[in-house]
Amino acid sequence: MTNYTDNTYLELFKSQKANQFKIGKMTYKQRLKKLKSLQIALEKTYKQQLRDALYKDFKKPQLEVDLTEIYPVIDEIRFIRKHLKSWLKNQKVDTPISLLGSSSWIKNEPKGVCLIISPWNFPVNLTFGPLVSAIAAGNTVILKPSEMTPHTSKVMSNIVSHLFSNDEVALIEGEVEVSTELLKLPFNHIFFTGSPQVGKIVMKAASAHLTSVTLELGGKSPVIIDDNSNLDNAVKKIIFGKFLNAGQTCIAPDYVLIHESLTSNFVAAFKKHLKDFYSEDPSQSNSFGRIVNQKHFKRLQNYLDDARNRHADIAIGGISEENENYIEPTVVFDAPEESELMQNEIFGPILPVKTYSSISEVLDYINSKEKPLALYIFSNDNKRVTEIINNTRAGSTCVNHNLLQFLNHNLPFGGSNNSGIGKSHGYFGFLEFTNQRSVLKQHTLGAVDLLKPPYTNFKQKLVDLTIKWF
Ligand code: NAD
Repeated sequence: MTNYTDNTYLELFKSQKANQFKIGKMTYKQRLKKLKSLQIALEKTYKQQLRDALYKDFKKPQLEVDLTEIYPVIDEIRFIRKHLKSWLKNQKVDTPISLLGSSSWIKNEPKGVCLIISPWNFPVNLTFGPLVSAIAAGNTVILKPSEMTPHTSKVMSNIVSHLFSNDEVALIEGEVEVSTELLKLPFNHIFFTGSPQVGKIVMKAASAHLTSVTLELGGKSPVIIDDNSNLDNAVKKIIFGKFLNAGQTCIAPDYVLIHESLTSNFVAAFKKHLKDFYSEDPSQSNSFGRIVNQKHFKRLQNYLDDARNRHADIAIGGISEENENYIEPTVVFDAPEESELMQNEIFGPILPVKTYSSISEVLDYINSKEKPLALYIFSNDNKRVTEIINNTRAGSTCVNHNLLQFLNHNLPFGGSNNSGIGKSHGYFGFLEFTNQRSVLKQHTLGAVDLLKPPYTNFKQKLVDLTIKWF
C-alpha cells in the first residue's frame, strides 16, 4: 500500500498525466484484461476481506455486500465486455451536401486524468463502479473513497495497489482535507458521488480549471401509492427498498405520499411484513445493518426527537440504541412540513408518510421541492402513471417497485440539478469519462472552398442558394 502526503499529490497527478497517452492508446482487449483482473479480485481474491471490512464498518449483512457492492461492479464489467469493442470504434456520421467532398466521424477518446470521490454508503460499488467506466474509456484515475468506512477503504487500497501501478490508478485514503487538496489539481474530469452540499464545493473547485464534472448526488426521493395499487405488494417492496443498508441508500424511498383511503391498511401491512423480514426485534436480525457512525446516529436521533416534539405520530418503531448505532425501522405519520424529517434527506431507516386526497396535491407538493434523484409510483392505473411522469421531473422513476432502475445498465443513472449532473452506468458511464472528438476529413475540393474571398456577386448567389436549398 502506498502512503501519500499532501505534497506528493501533485507528483502523483503529474505521473498520471505523463502516462495518459500510453493508457489511452490501449486496445479494448488490454482494457478488458484490466477489468477482468478487477473482477477476479472482487469475485475471489478479496471477496471475504471486503465482506469482513464492511461488517466492521457498519455491520453490513453479507448478502447485502454481495448483492449491492460486489455484484453491481461485476455486472458492469460483464456489460462492458460485451460492448466495449463497438464503443471504441470510430462512429461515422452523415455528411450534409453543403460539405460534399468530406467525411466525418466521432472518435471516443479518453478525457485524461480523472478524479473519483466516493461516499461511504456503498463504498465498493460507488468507488469501483465509476472506476470501471473510467478504465473502459482509457483514463488514468485517482480514487478518494470516504473516510467514514476506513476498513473498506483499506481493502480497496490493497486491491488497487495489487492490480495497478500508481501512474495508472491510485487510491488515496484520508479525511476531507485530502479531497480538498486533490480538488486543487487540474483534472480532466471529476466524478463525485455524495451530498448536494459537497457537490457544490466540488463544482466550485472544478470551475477553477474548467474541469468537467459528474455529480451523483442525493435528496428526498418520494414514493406515491395510488388508490388503485396493490397495497400489500407495494408495502413489501418499500420495506425492502427503505431498510436495505439501514436506509442509507441514495435512491431509497425518502417519504411516502399515500392516498388517504389506504392509511390503516398500510400500517397493518407494514407491521406484518416488517416482522416477516426482520423478526419481532430487528436489532436481533442479521439482515438489518447499522448507522455508519455516531455523527449520523445523532443526526437521525435528532430527526426523531424533533418529530416527537412536533407531535408527529410514530406509528411503527421509534426505538434506538446509541451504543450500537441502531435505529429501529420506523414509520412516522403527520410530521409537519417544517420538521427535520420533511426538510432534509433522511438517509436512515425512518419513513415519514403523508396522506393525500387528490393527485394534483401530490404533483404540487413534489414540484414545490428540488427535483428528486428517484420518484417511485405504485399504481395499476397506466393513465395515472403517465400523468405523474409527465407532470413531474426526476432523475429516474421506477413503477411498482423501487431501486431496480439502478441495476439496468441500459438505463442512464443519475439525477437532475440538485440531485445530480451527468449520468453513470453502461454506455452512459463510459461517455462520462470520454471526450467525443469530432473529426472531419476533407478529401477533394469542397463546395465551401468556392466561397473564399474575394466575395463576389456570384458567391453571394451561391450562399443564397445554399441557405434556400441545403
Ligand atoms: P458527502 O458528500 O458527505 O461525502 C462524499 C465524499 O466527499 C467523501 O469521500 C468525503 O470525504 C468527501 N467530502 C466531504 N466533505 C467534503 C468537502 N468539504 N470537500 C471535499 N470533499 C468532501 O456524502 P456521504 O455522507 O459520504 O454520502 C451521503 C450522500 O451521498 C447522500 O446525500 C446520498 O444521497 C448521496 N449519494 C448519492 C449517490 C448517487 O449515486 N446519486 C449514491 C450514494 C450516495
